[in-house]
Amino acid sequence: MPRFSGKVALITGSSTGIGKATAILFAQEGAKVTITGRNTQRLEEMKQEILKAGIPEDHVLAITADLNTEEGQDELINETIEKFGKLDILINNAGALFHDAQGRNGIAQDISVYDRTMEINMRTVVTLTQKALKFLIEAKGEIVNVSSMAAGPQAQPSVTYYAMSKAALDQFTRSIAIDLIQHGVRVNSVSPGVVKTSFGLVEGMPAGLQDKLISFFESHKECQPSGKVGRPIDIAHIISFLADRKRSSYIIGRTIHADGGSSLVMGMQAHNMMDILTS
Ligand code: NDP
Repeated sequence: MPRFSGKVALITGSSTGIGKATAILFAQEGAKVTITGRNTQRLEEMKQEILKAGIPEDHVLAITADLNTEEGQDELINETIEKFGKLDILINNAGALFHDAQGRNGIAQDISVYDRTMEINMRTVVTLTQKALKFLIEAKGEIVNVSSMAAGPQAQPSVTYYAMSKAALDQFTRSIAIDLIQHGVRVNSVSPGVVKTSFGLVEGMPAGLQDKLISFFESHKECQPSGKVGRPIDIAHIISFLADRKRSSYIIGRTIHADGGSSLVMGMQAHNMMDILTS
């Protein structure tokens, strides 16, 4: 029997990228899935893709909703319960990296960038989790949050607000994991490194620029020791492991880093120590 047979999963940000790969994987492994995003057409295309993969139509619920609104969140929870009768797994995946309109970095970025970042990457996770909690406790379910290697401990001077939002998310994961395990609900997270998706293009960064960045990282081992950035399915597999109680039940409140080694390297290692000493 597929491992998520009989389970119901709500995956935010599932019209593209990591969330999409996760929703397809969960559906292929037997789960009934609620997929969501703001763009109806993209969501519909995603639904068609799931159906083409042989998933029965009554296993998929597509809801166009803005997570930044209370109504959007209510719709996600209420319609999931109405259609599937329960909620076993919540994947808080939707997130965004916003750029300053004037191209400024770090603390120079306008405070509106901070507000927008915190809203989607942190506040919506808290409020959606609150709304889902009653059902997750009933099901003795699982929550998996999608964080980022940007959460630290390294500094992130270019994307300070984004990094702060993900560091806060990691503390949220740890803290609620201890709170909720007494009710039988498990909480964990995954921290991806660079993954090739449309992420970061939200504010109109041309696709060519993203390719340029990725190819730089892949050709510099001090950025990407594995020599390859991740694919959405690489992260989906980790999310599915953390949502699978049979395989990961002893992991509580932890973040699994999946970044091809990026967060393990330091700038010092870009230089050969013997060259420095002998020059
Ligand atoms: P994508 O940009 O490909 O996907 C983001 C998803 O979130 C889309 O489905 C988008 O749909 C949805 N979304 C964004 N804002 C809202 C909103 N206000 N309401 C509802 N849905 C929303 O990103 P990724 O798949 O790359 O990112 C997924 C997660 O992974 C994020 O949390 C990100 O921080 C994290 N991550 C990504 C990395 C990467 O390199 N790609 C690295 C580290 C972490 P729509 O636009 O239609 O609303």
